[in-house]
Amino acid sequence: RPFVELTGVSHTYATGGTLAVDGLDIRVNEGEFAAVVGPSGCGKSTLMKLATGLQFPQAGAVVVDGQEVRDPVKIAGMAFQAPTLLPWRTTLENLMLPLEIVEPHRSRLRRNKAEYVAKAEALLESVGLKGAGSKFPWQLSGGMQQRASLCRALIHEPKLLMLDEPFGALDAFTREELWCVIRDLHARMAGSLTVILVTHDLREAVFLADRIFCMSSRPGKIIAEREVGFPRPRD
Ligand code: ADP
Ligand code: ADP
Repeated sequence: RPFVELTGVSHTYATGGTLAVDGLDIRVNEGEFAAVVGPSGCGKSTLMKLATGLQFPQAGAVVVDGQEVRDPVKIAGMAFQAPTLLPWRTTLENLMLPLEIVEPHRSRLRRNKAEYVAKAEALLESVGLKGAGSKFPWQLSGGMQQRASLCRALIHEPKLLMLDEPFGALDAFTREELWCVIRDLHARMAGSLTVILVTHDLREAVFLADRIFCMSSRPGKIIAEREVGFPRPRD
């Protein structure tokens, strides 16, 4: 069933009057891993913001999980090009952030603390960060911080994971290692996690995604859509 649907979506930024996306039609099914590729400035980040309710289109409809998007979509986890860990919190405390937002009752947070910590540590271990929970972000390498950011995007068990160039700032070796990590994470969620990845790296899209949307700029339109038809690589 469709999980993220954009129908005839157009958006112009008031500042500069740029028509950032023009009549987007996108459908991503539940559990699918979709990638959106295209050159810088073609509207990929705008698409991401529209799909998560951080931005509202002037025309068209955005539906996520059967509901028209009117507010920021809380079922979404997000990770960006730069890891966005807070420097004065340990990795573990950074991972707690989404839980603090989803569960604002401090008493209940305290009561479930052991469970949350166990979950965070399990996630960290699954991306090869066992024991990094007590370290501060500045004590970790860029790749480790990016892994921790991914864990934080997943800790509240989002149904939708939005990745905006999350591997862009990494060296080629770390990047490919993280591709495997994210692919395994998605496979382990067995159809319950829908992912939309924005990237300008076609190889990355082909490696990770089940479905690829190609965008062109001026103005941002989908010019091609492909299901990745060949068998996915396995470990
Ligand atoms: P794209 O490759 O999709 O064109 P951009 O370079 O336009 O990405 O960046 C999108 C947004 O992210 C911009 O608002 C930009 O300021 C911000 N951004 C880009 N790179 C970084 C970075 N390394 N650290 C923090 N913010 C960044
Ligand atoms: P991409 O992520 O593919 O690099 P963006 O969605 O960031 O593309 O940008 C699409 C177009 O919209 C670009 O022309 C960009 O300059 C413009 N744009 C993006 N964000 C803003 C903004 N906050 N205000 C005004 N114009 C913007």
